[in-house]
Amino acid sequence: MVHNKDKARFTEALLQWFAANMRALPWRKDYSPYRVWVSEIMLQQTQMERGVTYFTRWMQRFPDVRSVAEAEEDAILKAWEGLGYYSRARNLHKAAKKIMTEFAGVFPADYDAIRSLPGIGDYTAGAIASIAFQQNYVAVDANVERVFSRLFDIDTPIKQKENIAFVHRTAQELLPDGKARHFNQALMELGALVCSKKARCEQCPVQEWCEAYRLGIPHERPVTAPRKAIVSLEVATGLLEHEGHIFIQKRPEMGVWAGFWEFPGGSVEEGETPEQAICREFMEEMEFDVTPREKIAVVRHGYTTYRVNLHCYLLGLKNGNTAPVLHAATESRWVRFDELDAFTFPAGHRKLIDLLRGGLQWQWLREAG
Ligand code: SF4
Repeated sequence: MVHNKDKARFTEALLQWFAANMRALPWRKDYSPYRVWVSEIMLQQTQMERGVTYFTRWMQRFPDVRSVAEAEEDAILKAWEGLGYYSRARNLHKAAKKIMTEFAGVFPADYDAIRSLPGIGDYTAGAIASIAFQQNYVAVDANVERVFSRLFDIDTPIKQKENIAFVHRTAQELLPDGKARHFNQALMELGALVCSKKARCEQCPVQEWCEAYRLGIPHERPVTAPRKAIVSLEVATGLLEHEGHIFIQKRPEMGVWAGFWEFPGGSVEEGETPEQAICREFMEEMEFDVTPREKIAVVRHGYTTYRVNLHCYLLGLKNGNTAPVLHAATESRWVRFDELDAFTFPAGHRKLIDLLRGGLQWQWLREAG
């Protein structure tokens, strides 16, 4: 346990370890608020290696707040494609516009102003205020929660309100004045590299203060609440081909995958086959009378607590009518296969495109039009 008299020794051990072991991450070069902000948003729900790749590409495409604010939403979503949780990208876009109009293009340093930006909650505001501006705020992410659950042997679910409050309060008490940038990152880095899911206690700089280590139970911490049940979904989608062109449509600005382009389709209803579902969906959504030519694949993908089986078909028009009546989209196009890359698709549809790109049997489609 870290007692008051030990605080300085604890933080010193942690900071020394961080100085010697921190990873060379691109946003650690200059700690500019813009780069810290983008990295924090990007790394939520994203593995570090992937985050670094996307971050580097993003900075080439959008080097500053202004370039984000002035971009079209389609370009923002395209740069985010594959990272998931797209509301993060939309909020980055909105926040950049707000910084341009309300803060004269300068990233605000004041905690409340940072917190007022779209997509920024307590954690991210604390991370930016401390890491970019060296202010005395804590930044408690899942790594820090895990470290504290072990240091203080928290034996109830870590996400419980009182435990979260305890971790925040304790982190704030331990925070050395003026050293928030490194202290917060050190705790997160410790959770990522040493006090990870499988704790490497033999390498730990704060082992002597760890209650779970003393009791021999790091693997029993953190205590987690029971997981939410996984829901299986059967969905059908169709690649409607006509004279070498494929039909795509843009989803509305509200709801799941808002503003994304897609191959139309929808859930397979009870008593329906996927073929029946796809024909019904094309009639309901575009008033297209289609016929399945062949089944391409069943693409499996997951989002939040859903596991989706996406039944994918190649379709043809029963009559020559290529003009849709749109009931579930804001716009539509007939495009060649090689033009699909210019549009942002949901993960399952992107997998389908990759599959078609690889198969010899789809060469005619890739070269058509
Ligand atoms: S001693 Fe082990 S369990 Fe405790 S903080 Fe260090 S790595 Fe985590």
